[in-house]
Amino acid sequence: MDPSRRVIEDGAVLLENGLITQVGKSSDVKPQKRAEVEIDGKGMAVLPGFVDTHVHLAQALIRGCADDTSLIDWLQKFVWPLQGNFDSQDGKASAELCMLEMIKSGTTAFLESLLHTRYGLDGIAESIEACGMRGILSKTVMSLPGYGSEKSIMHPGMVEDGETCLREVETYFKRWNGRADDRIRIWYGARSLGGCTPQLYKQISEGAKRLETGVTMHLSEVQEDVRYARKEFGKLPAEFMDQVGLVGPNVVFAHGVWLTENEWAVLGRKHANVAHCPCSNMKLASGIAKVPEMTNAGVNVGLGCDGGPSNNCYDMVREMKTASILHKVRTLDPLTMTAATVLEMATIKGAKAVGLENQIGSIEVGKKADLIIVNLRKPHLTPSFNAVSNIVYAAEGSDVETTIIDGKIIMENRIVKTLDEEKVLRVADERATRLLGRAGLSVGSN
Ligand SMILES: [Zn+2]
Repeated sequence: MDPSRRVIEDGAVLLENGLITQVGKSSDVKPQKRAEVEIDGKGMAVLPGFVDTHVHLAQALIRGCADDTSLIDWLQKFVWPLQGNFDSQDGKASAELCMLEMIKSGTTAFLESLLHTRYGLDGIAESIEACGMRGILSKTVMSLPGYGSEKSIMHPGMVEDGETCLREVETYFKRWNGRADDRIRIWYGARSLGGCTPQLYKQISEGAKRLETGVTMHLSEVQEDVRYARKEFGKLPAEFMDQVGLVGPNVVFAHGVWLTENEWAVLGRKHANVAHCPCSNMKLASGIAKVPEMTNAGVNVGLGCDGGPSNNCYDMVREMKTASILHKVRTLDPLTMTAATVLEMATIKGAKAVGLENQIGSIEVGKKADLIIVNLRKPHLTPSFNAVSNIVYAAEGSDVETTIIDGKIIMENRIVKTLDEEKVLRVADERATRLLGRAGLSVGSN
């Protein structure tokens, strides 16, 4: 992944002080002194780490707790009561479980979209600092306890006050933005339509301009978003967002399933971004975002795994395959959404969406060393005539052998060095069981 999309056979990459300093044929890459660490990548592929543009860290703990139901019921009956019972230790346990899974499947950077204060943003940021990932944390901003026209349906534990949310974003921004060698960023996480007043959206837009930071928000995930925007504002969802100042290069809209041609034009003109989450949209039967059309209209589209109850995994490799084949069957065009296209979405386009395209998302001299090494010596990856095709169509997240972030080896030979895997799994199991009890829910395999 570089501007000319080269695939270098028998290649090598030299990393120094967290940056990529040489890349090319192994015979041409020459360190001035002997490298401190050498990794033999024979039979493997080196790629930029994946950038997941839509993640809910706090939903890893409730994986599989809301299956086979539609979005509003999914939220009201399962996800909100469970997350409304979270405490900061649950938030930390869930974030560490999620990051462990991401590191083990090659994701090196992510955009977390909605962090309620009760999940404990400080604890989660500390976990990012310690585990070595690159993470953008968006603090939830909301003032109304509903979704679209469905009023007051949110669990009381999930309700937050608009002014307090805005103040907290600023507090967390001052405390964490740029910390951990700039691996942590703080954004605004605007609640979807029905969760904020128009005035609050305007305040978010102004706040983001003042802090020079980003905003992410679920938009047009389900048809209810469109009905609500038409009824309340006489506009389509993206037109309304434009009116309140929330369409711009610093904005990532998650899903965008029901966006129309006119709305793609607005997003394209203003350089806004969309996080495409095909697995989540398919499982919740939300619909199919028109990604090839959106891209043609100039919208930058990245990929996102969404959450534990909607996907139910955080594996960008599986997300790439799903994205590709979903759009082929929808358009009845096997030439659309090629392997190379979805690999771009998972790397450089994701980096662009989160405003980091000059730092990560490709293997280029001067960029930060966020790289993964994929083992191609597997039955399901043999023969390997076309590495890009094999990685997108045949690989799985567990084929990632090594994960490097900011020049540090975070996982080597599938052993994560910065998290105690056994402990993370045990704590997550224990806390998930207690959480279900507190929420009065049971999830069985009936
Ligand atoms: Zn989401």
